[in-house]
Amino acid sequence: MAEIKGFLKYKRKKTSYRPIEQRIIDFKEVELALTPDDIIQQAARCIDCGIPFCHGLGCPLGNNIPEFNDMIYKGQWQKACQLLHSTNNFPEITARICPAPCETACTLAINDEPVFIRQIEFQIVERGFENGWIKPVIAKQKTGKKVAVIGSGPAGLAAAQQLVRAGHGVVIFEKDEKIGGLLRYGIPDFKLEKNVIDRRLAQLAAEGVEFQTGVEVGKDISAHYLKKMFDCICLAMGAGEPRDLAITGRGYENVVFATDYLTQQNKICNGETIAGKIISAKDKSVVVIGGGDTGSDCVGTARRQGAKKIYQLEILPKPPNIRPEDTPWPMWPRIMRTSSSHQEGCERLWGVKTTKLSGAETNVSELRGCSVEWIKTPKGWNIKEIENTEFTIKTDLVILAMGFLHVKYEGLVQSLKLKLDENGNIAANNFQSSVPDVFAAGDSMLGASLVVKAIDTGRKAADRIDKWLMDNK
Ligand SMILES: Cc1cc2nc3c(=O)[nH]c(=O)nc-3n(C[C@H](O)[C@H](O)[C@H](O)COP(=O)(O)OP(=O)(O)OC[C@H]3O[C@@H](n4cnc5c(N)ncnc54)[C@H](O)[C@@H]3O)c2cc1C
Repeated sequence: MAEIKGFLKYKRKKTSYRPIEQRIIDFKEVELALTPDDIIQQAARCIDCGIPFCHGLGCPLGNNIPEFNDMIYKGQWQKACQLLHSTNNFPEITARICPAPCETACTLAINDEPVFIRQIEFQIVERGFENGWIKPVIAKQKTGKKVAVIGSGPAGLAAAQQLVRAGHGVVIFEKDEKIGGLLRYGIPDFKLEKNVIDRRLAQLAAEGVEFQTGVEVGKDISAHYLKKMFDCICLAMGAGEPRDLAITGRGYENVVFATDYLTQQNKICNGETIAGKIISAKDKSVVVIGGGDTGSDCVGTARRQGAKKIYQLEILPKPPNIRPEDTPWPMWPRIMRTSSSHQEGCERLWGVKTTKLSGAETNVSELRGCSVEWIKTPKGWNIKEIENTEFTIKTDLVILAMGFLHVKYEGLVQSLKLKLDENGNIAANNFQSSVPDVFAAGDSMLGASLVVKAIDTGRKAADRIDKWLMDNK
């Protein structure tokens, strides 16, 4: 245990953010790190409870949180770095962008603020890179087996790293120009700067992972060819089919999907060329439809592009400020969350539905909507429009950030004739798809989820593939 009664002595310390007026004129990361002294005190707050829900129930990766808290308190940083990497391939990513379900499951969170686990993880991994403790792990023996990983998001990268370390030959095929999936092209730099990804990719390359970018499997090369060239395939293509809005006016040119919008800005930040028209929020009244993380990332991006006014609309009711009864501890609570992007300025509307978009020629200029009521029925929830609540918003750019449906089917999923589950994701039994030498991980089998779950399923799929390959010698 870090420090007996440390939790009574020290309060949870919040990280601070760069001042708003400074940060909205660039795309650099906004969160500031705590000092090493602060971190030791934060680690000292861990009560080493008998059953660490943070580790067992909260963290999908099963990070050994009480143990590394204790190590930090004792100054054993290198040991903590090793321990963290034993369960998490990319702690520098989760330390920046994970919503930290470990913290909402922390025992202290029952009646106090949880241990600041995410920031402790950040300090461990950053110190690891600074001190050169994070080195390539080269497999002692090669198996002669070859695996093709399709998609280079966190799931594909975690699977590839685990497989190459087990001695298999691994090639990642990625349709985009650069490696990283949504880490690179979805999540904005102000949450995750891309040199953080590149630093880790150097480790993967040194370990022997081969990267083939600009190759769309199912279009540029066939799945049939890959099956011949490799012993098996791991699909980690994400859930790239965005949820659309079937209303009048959807077809206007300035009604765009969030991923198209965010990808463009990420490419601009990274000096890549943009194909097609640039979507900019400069001097515009922007409406983001969708109140989740993707929507919040659009808000922050529009702010930095110089939007005149930003609205974010959410169809669900405003969540409560404190943990509601339907998500008790240690569950992930449905509570009001305000991101750094929201703090930069945006008007949030809750319990509203967009009913119509109108404009002239090719451009939308007005959004119409109304408030809705959620009614519970034996068959589930129904949405009812509330009379006399209609409103209009003048707008020059509407961004659709309403989540994702499932993996894209055309090309690979169709040509492999893969079975789908009831939600339209790739059906998998212990990560093995309906085609025996094809495995799946990440959002392509989970549906749109979180980075931490993508890493977790990538690791587990790799484990399954390794056993399957070695049993099928
Ligand atoms: C805007 C946005 C913000 C987010 N913010 C957060 C956050 O703050 N915290 C968090 O935990 N999660 C966040 N998420 C969710 C998180 O990014 C995803 O859950 C995670 O990236 C899924 O990983 P993945 O590896 O399964 O797929 P992806 O990251 O989607 O990667 C899939 C890759 O496969 C490639 N691909 C697809 N088909 C083919 C093909 N046929 N051939 C070759 N390549 C192919 C794609 O180009 C892509 O690079 C966010 C998502 C979005 C969209």
